[in-house]
Amino acid sequence: MKITELHHPSHETVLQVEDRPSGLRGFIAVHSTQRGPAAGGLRMRAYKTPQHALTDVLRLSEGMTFKNAAADLALGGGKAVIIGDPATKTAAQLRAMGEAIDRLGGQYWTAEDMGMSPADMGIIRQSTAFVAGLDRVAFGSGDPSPITARGIFQSIRITAKHRFGNPSLVGRRVAVQGLGHVGWALGKLLKAAGAELVVADIDPSRTAQAGRCLGAEPVPADAILTVPADILAPCAIGGVLNADTIPALRVAAICGGANNQLATPADGDTLARRGILYAPDYIVNAGGIINVATEVLRIRARTAFVEEKLAALDATLDAILTEAGDSGRAPARLADAWVAARIAPPHAA
Ligand code: NAD
Repeated sequence: MKITELHHPSHETVLQVEDRPSGLRGFIAVHSTQRGPAAGGLRMRAYKTPQHALTDVLRLSEGMTFKNAAADLALGGGKAVIIGDPATKTAAQLRAMGEAIDRLGGQYWTAEDMGMSPADMGIIRQSTAFVAGLDRVAFGSGDPSPITARGIFQSIRITAKHRFGNPSLVGRRVAVQGLGHVGWALGKLLKAAGAELVVADIDPSRTAQAGRCLGAEPVPADAILTVPADILAPCAIGGVLNADTIPALRVAAICGGANNQLATPADGDTLARRGILYAPDYIVNAGGIINVATEVLRIRARTAFVEEKLAALDATLDAILTEAGDSGRAPARLADAWVAARIAPPHAA
C-alpha cells in the first residue's frame, strides 16, 4: 500500500491512500484534534477526479471539527473518502482503508457515511480498532442514521416554529432530496407527523418506493430544488445551495441532513436576503456523530448521553435561529461564530 502525506495548511494530517492489489484509492483528512481524537465518517463516491475527492474530504473533515464542537463532544474533526461507486466496493478495499486508518494510531476514528453500512465497518474492524458504528461489539452503536434522522426531524420542527410560528408539521409540504439511510428514516418521521412529502433520488426505485410506502409525490432528481414546498430537506450530497440553485428555490425554509449544503458561506447570506430560513447543517445533522461518540468515548449510559446531547443541540439551534431573527444575520454565520468560540486556538495550553 502506498500512503503519501499531503501537506495542507489548514489540516493537521492529510493522507493519500493507494492500494494496487485491491484497487483502493482514497484520502484521509484530519482537520483538528484539539478537542479530542478526530472522528467522522468514511464516504464512498464515484468522484469525477481525485481532486474532487480531496476537496470533499478537506471540507468534510473541517465540517466535522465544527459539528463535534457544536455538539460539545470531546472529539476533533476528520473524514475519509474512497473513490468509486459503492456498488463496486470490495472487502479488500475496506480492509486496506482500515490499515491506513490504523497507521494513524487513533488520531482518526472512522464510521459510516454515504455509501457505507455497519457491515462495512465490521470489515474495516478486521484491520483497525479505530472504527465505530459497529453492530454487536462492546459499546457498539450501530447505524447512526436513525439518530441523525431524529435530530433532523426535531430541527425541522424548530425551524418551522421560527419560520411559520408553529412547530407542527401537519399539512406542511416538505421536499426531501435523497432517500438513503438518512432521507428514508426522516421521510418516515415526517409522514408520521402529518407532513406531505415530495421526494427525489437519483435511484428511481427509491422514489417509487417512497410513493408506495410514504404516500410521497416523486419528482425527478433534477426537479427537487425547484418544487414549491414549505421546507426543503437536502439529504444527499453537499454544495446543493449555490449561486445557480438559490435563485430558483421555491421554499420558505431549509433544514436537512446533508453535510456542507452551502457551496460557500456567502450562499448563506443570499438565502437570508431571500427570506429563506436556513438551519445550519452541522447542527441539524449531529445526531449521528453523537451516537458514534458513545462508542469512541466508551460511554456506558448511552441513551442518557444521546438524549442529553440531542436536547442541547435543539436548544442551540433554537438560540441561533432566534438571534438570526433578531439580527437579520445569516444563521450559518452565527453558527460558525458560536462554534469557533468553542474551538480552542491551536496553541492554547
Ligand atoms: P446514503 O448513501 O445512504 O444515501 C444518499 C442517497 O442520496 C442515496 O439514495 C443516493 O441515491 C441519493 N443521491 C445521491 N445524489 C443525489 C442527487 N444528486 N439527487 C438526489 N438524490 C441523490 O447516505 P446517508 O447516510 O443517507 O447520508 C446522506 C447525507 O447525510 C450525506 O450528505 C451524509 O454526509 C449526511 N449525513 C449522514 C449521517 C448518517 O448518520 N448517515 C450523519 C450526518 C450527515
